Amino acid sequence: MTEGQTRPDRILYTCPSCQRQLRIPIEFAGMKVSCRFCNAELIAPAHPSLPPADGLRFVGTGVAFEIVRTWAGDGEEEHRTTILRDPLKHDLAMFTLALECFGPSTVHVGGLSVESGELIPLGRARAGECRIIPLRGVYHVYAWVERGEQSRARMIVARQE
Ligand SMILES: [Zn+2]
Repeated sequence: MTEGQTRPDRILYTCPSCQRQLRIPIEFAGMKVSCRFCNAELIAPAHPSLPPADGLRFVGTGVAFEIVRTWAGDGEEEHRTTILRDPLKHDLAMFTLALECFGPSTVHVGGLSVESGELIPLGRARAGECRIIPLRGVYHVYAWVERGEQSRARMIVARQE
């Protein structure tokens, strides 16, 4: 995401049609909106610094969202981050996760199986790696680092149309 920020609740975005600068309210991240100058339809980008709780608000609207998570390794902080969860425990097979790890520690992704409810490892990324992980057969997906370790990762969830 190269677009800048003005206010935390606005996404700064250049209309691809008329090149004017738009300030899109964060609630519209990932949604189809119209440019207020030229009326062109466009997809508002994901917020560049969306906290996980906000990112999860967009699940189920058929859009992609993005989470950037830093694990500080202080031992106090919860080391698991929920990426996506279906409260009705339906299979998340229509979603794909892109995991980009900035390191230093490896980031792991796992999910709770629709069939057994048990944790299934889905993949991991070492520092500098990016993994594309189909979310199939699971209803709750989360990322973590080993307790006490430090890392930073970008997680982008896309829904297949
Ligand atoms: Zn426009």
